[in-house]
Amino acid sequence: MEIKNYHKAQSLDEAYQMLLQNPKNAIIGGGAWMKLSSPSIETLIDLKDLQLDQIIETKSSIEVGAMVTLQQLETNPSIMKLGQGFISKSLSVILGAGFRNIATIGGTVVGKYAFSDFLTALLTLPVTLVFYPHKEMSLEAFLNHKGKFNDILTHIIIHKQDGLGFFKKVALTPLELAILNVAVFKSVEGYQISIGSRPGGAILAHEAMDFMNAQKEITESIIDQTSEIVIETVKFGSSKSGSEDYRKALAKAYVKRGIKEVTVK
Ligand SMILES: Cc1cc2nc3c(=O)[nH]c(=O)nc-3n(C[C@H](O)[C@H](O)[C@H](O)COP(=O)(O)OP(=O)(O)OC[C@H]3O[C@@H](n4cnc5c(N)ncnc54)[C@H](O)[C@@H]3O)c2cc1C
Repeated sequence: MEIKNYHKAQSLDEAYQMLLQNPKNAIIGGGAWMKLSSPSIETLIDLKDLQLDQIIETKSSIEVGAMVTLQQLETNPSIMKLGQGFISKSLSVILGAGFRNIATIGGTVVGKYAFSDFLTALLTLPVTLVFYPHKEMSLEAFLNHKGKFNDILTHIIIHKQDGLGFFKKVALTPLELAILNVAVFKSVEGYQISIGSRPGGAILAHEAMDFMNAQKEITESIIDQTSEIVIETVKFGSSKSGSEDYRKALAKAYVKRGIKEVTVK
């Protein structure tokens, strides 16, 4: 990776104008992924001085700055409580604490990595992404959006909901990327089921959720049918780490387990 210039922006507008100046200019979060992936950068724009490394909790939301590190978020007391800690768990499975002290929430969300453990879990919650200049969108809309996005992510807003959450990463070893990851969240609004590393990116299993949320009673048979709908309606594929059939078998097993764990008897 070759970097010609490095600039610490003093305002979001300055960072944004600089980003527009040259397609080879880029924002840096923790730089962990860029180090692996970027061939050559003209000017690296650092947001370090812009107070985007804070987590602010209000009665109804948790506002997370783009420069908050994975470790900072994982160990935040409000995040540890949310859905009985399933968001914290999705962060804790990413390499070691040293790495999580470097990688940022901004780089993770904007990167839209198909294998992302955090994005799979986060997608089950109502989340608004805030971009500069002046754009807000849901996490689901952002993940579904195709094409390049030149705006700067400043915050993610997690709208708080009481509920129970489940997260599972399946990988060959703790240091490897997920073969599949699954998250389930249950609140008064119903069940949310998210599947990532299919090997495509995180997606909500809408048909299965609609079926589940229309039921008056959750029985073993309903849980079986829901997991069947997940594997029939969500797209799975094969990659070096696992075949389509293996991923489907994992999804079926962990969706069932997740629903059972978040369903209060
Ligand atoms: C070796 C390795 C192993 C990994 N293993 C896992 C794993 O097992 N599970 C998992 O979930 N994740 C894993 N990850 C991904 C990691 O968790 C982070 O998501 C990733 O490193 C990106 O975060 P970063 O801060 O390093 O981003 P950077 O590398 O700094 O940036 C990534 C991209 O986002 C852009 N960007 C950054 N911040 C902003 C912003 N505020 N606004 C607009 N654009 C921005 C950058 O320009 C760049 O294009 C791994 C990463 C590495 C390098």
